[in-house]
Amino acid sequence: MTVITRFAPSPTGKIHIGNLRPALINWLYARAEGGQFMLRIDDTDLERSKEEYVDGIKADLTWLGLTWDFEARQSTRFDKYDAVVENLKAEGRLYPCYETADELDRKRKRQMSRGLPPVYDRAALDMTDEERAELEAEGRKPHWRFKLEDRSVVWTDLVRGEQSIEASSLSDPILIREDGSYLYTLPSVIDDIEFKVSHVIRGEDHVANTGAQIQIFEALGAQAPVFAHHNLLVGKEGEGLSKRLGSLSISSFREDGIEAMAVVSHAASIGSSNPIVPHQTTETIFKEFAFEKLSRSPAKFDVAELELINAKLLHETEFSVVQTRLAELGIEGAEAFWDAVRGNIEKFEDVKLWWKVVNGPIDPVIEDAEFCAKALSVLPEGPYDETSWGTFTKAVKEATGAKGKALFQPLRLSLTGQPHGPELKALLPLIGPDRAAGRLKGEVV
Ligand code: GLU
Repeated sequence: MTVITRFAPSPTGKIHIGNLRPALINWLYARAEGGQFMLRIDDTDLERSKEEYVDGIKADLTWLGLTWDFEARQSTRFDKYDAVVENLKAEGRLYPCYETADELDRKRKRQMSRGLPPVYDRAALDMTDEERAELEAEGRKPHWRFKLEDRSVVWTDLVRGEQSIEASSLSDPILIREDGSYLYTLPSVIDDIEFKVSHVIRGEDHVANTGAQIQIFEALGAQAPVFAHHNLLVGKEGEGLSKRLGSLSISSFREDGIEAMAVVSHAASIGSSNPIVPHQTTETIFKEFAFEKLSRSPAKFDVAELELINAKLLHETEFSVVQTRLAELGIEGAEAFWDAVRGNIEKFEDVKLWWKVVNGPIDPVIEDAEFCAKALSVLPEGPYDETSWGTFTKAVKEATGAKGKALFQPLRLSLTGQPHGPELKALLPLIGPDRAAGRLKGEVV
């Protein structure tokens, strides 16, 4: 079987950390299996769907490296859906209902107060032609429900194992709204059939939909795809993420200077038994991916953890990987520089500070001018290499009697203007003898 997966976002908002996971898992699985990954834009809701969100979704996926093999847009496929609808109506599987939202709400409340599940009672099926005609004459428009067969629906879920849902525990799903617009349920099935989607991988909030959709696949004479429902994300205290999703968008991470591979590494391992560690490339992520490793319980998302992965990723990144990006910042041919500072940055942009520290001008911090003058008197001549710092500090220790923090901190403050930072053993050769001497004298160089 050729594996074909799809990511099917509705372009009514940005991709955030919650819906990135289905995108990533679908992509990973298709790539790991040598299959194809489809991007399907679920824009049947013409009012809420926006072109800017379509563009944003594509830009985010591209930035993350989640490239798709082909693409479809539901808004261009209404004639296909309409044709299927005509057949379903003719077969009596799609039936018109006239209840208003308020009426349905009252029904549900009554059922619940009697301890019954709030399942639609199919009252519309008992209506006579005259009753329907009367409502239509009043200007009422029907919505259309798919008639489920009263039997259990079973499937083997790649994450949740054997699943069984009694169709009688589900309301007949509404497929078409009063205004004639489609809910996602039917177009999704029609598209999954047409594009030969082999695996539907999505969040576990869709489990009940799967029960209904499997019956729709069958009603359309197709075999249902394999399903996998992954766990959902919650906040670090277990709270729902829905209200905060705006600030957890992929574009906001990008603007905050988080690396694409940090986002991918984190999203690929959160909620699974894989350790959350940075991956330099997706190759190693493919090797680790397995549905069985996904947990059944919600996964806690903490932005601090993502930032930590980002820093670790940068610490482990080789010069060749960032050479072009450094050059774009005007930092050319700077392998020794990158190796000196990468362990001390949290975001890539932090290199700008250290480039300035190395090349100046900076304001040296001189807390004890006498100490710095003594240090200057024993500053070795250049050129410097990785042994120079050791030679220098040994001489300063002899000249001043200072040791430990009292020795190193004033030297760091005057040579870099910063209280913390990369090892001076690596920085001193980059700063060089002239700037070092000037800074020990308090000069802005
Ligand atoms: N557009 C649907 C959603 O975003 C797709 C669900 C699915 O993967 O089937 O929830």
